[in-house]
Amino acid sequence: MTERWVTVLKAADAAARWHMHQRRKGEAQEPYINHLLEVAQLVAEATGGRDPNLVIAALLHDAIEDCGVSRDEIAATFGEDVAALVVGVTDDKNLKQEVRKKLQVDGAAHQPRRAKLLKLADKTSNLRSMSASPPANWSLERKLDYLAWARAVAHGLRGVNPWLEGRFDAAAETAERAVRAAAA
Ligand code: ZN
Repeated sequence: MTERWVTVLKAADAAARWHMHQRRKGEAQEPYINHLLEVAQLVAEATGGRDPNLVIAALLHDAIEDCGVSRDEIAATFGEDVAALVVGVTDDKNLKQEVRKKLQVDGAAHQPRRAKLLKLADKTSNLRSMSASPPANWSLERKLDYLAWARAVAHGLRGVNPWLEGRFDAAAETAERAVRAAAA
């Protein structure tokens, strides 16, 4: 455990480098590492700090999808458990966006427990930025569609961690209020 938390920081450092030029979609254009740290913090708190590999996977969860980092590269530095966790939350980019979104809804309930935690933390962070910094070019309808989709995915991820589910529900409510207020 003591050595593992050194590895947690190694993962944060790797993530900051890999995502260096990437920004969030919102109007504030936050550095992408803010999202990765938020997801990592949520899973760390949800598990009471007892699952460092899940925290590492949270820091690296978009590295394959967004940075073209390979599974083997992650496995070599961070171990097989972390690599499997990251692959488990990586969408197949060969599929169309609509198909990927549907697969996330259909597949949510069948995920292993730790993948559910990671996905729910990811959705929570995404909805928080929908209130704090919504994408400037999204219509009301698109924002509401996104919100409904996130809720549909989260429905399948329930039953694992009531604390995290509470964080998601709060983020979804705040996002809905912010989206509707901005359109009013
Ligand atoms: Zn993410």
